[in-house]
Parts: sequence; C-alpha cells; structure tokens
Amino acid sequence: MRVLLLLMLIGCGSQDVSYGDVLFTKATETVFFKYIGSFERLLGRTTSSKVFFGEIDERYAAVCRGFKGSGPKQVIVDKETWENLNEVQREQLIFHELGHCDLDLEHNDTSFLDIDTQTYCPSSVMRYKLFNKTEIKECYQPFKNMYIDELFK
Ligand SMILES: [Zn+2]
Repeated sequence: MRVLLLLMLIGCGSQDVSYGDVLFTKATETVFFKYIGSFERLLGRTTSSKVFFGEIDERYAAVCRGFKGSGPKQVIVDKETWENLNEVQREQLIFHELGHCDLDLEHNDTSFLDIDTQTYCPSSVMRYKLFNKTEIKECYQPFKNMYIDELFK
C-alpha cells in the first residue's frame, strides 16, 4: 500500500475551472471535480488548491505541495495509483489531500475499536495511508458521518 505524504515545496500558478451549478474549483482533470465538489459542499466554500495528475515520488498516491505555506497549494495525484482505486478510496484520497492543503491538517494515525464488529478503525481520513478495502467496508462506510465531522471539525 502506498502512503501519502506532504511535501514542503512551493507551488506555482493555478487556473479556475467552473464546476457544476454553484461551485467553482481549481482542477485540470474533470475526474476530480465530483470529489472536490463534495469537499466544497461540506466545507461551505471553494477550495484554494489546484488538483491535477503529475509526477510524484513513487511511494505516494498523492501529495499536497505547499502544505502550511502562504503560497499556492497543489494536490498532485499519481495517475497510475488513481486508476487502481475504487470510488470511495478516490474520495478519501482527495479529502485527505485537501485536508492538508485547504484545512492545514496534519496526519492523525490514531484508531478506535468498534465494539460491534471488534474492528480497529482509523480515527480520521487524515491517517498517513488510505483505508484498505476492509477498513472501507467496516469503518469508512458505517462511520462516514463521523469521519466527515472529524475532518471539518
Ligand atoms: Zn497526508
């Protein structure tokens, strides 16, 4: 499983792209629009990060470039990894990176025990790596509202 990382690099310019009826976001690939749109609806404002496919260290699925800096933020996604993710993992990846880039969130690698299923679940989508398919089924889907609340707290 590849992990996610934040890089402390300075980004460059961005380009506005209209999205749907009310949202206005920055992405160069239409495949990202629905996930960014979901994030923006939950956030209640537009993101300030540009999201696109690009070359990153092969250990990572995506990075937030410019994390915690005052300059432009970029979410750079590895296309090959993206192609192998399911819908939920894609949403989680974009939410995670926008959590870094737009919400200035650090990683949260804590977990909790779901008493009903006796499953240890990540406490946050800001965990350092994506949820695996079991965690999606046992944790992310049943506790999605909690993960959303935790992200936008
Ligand atoms: Zn991360």
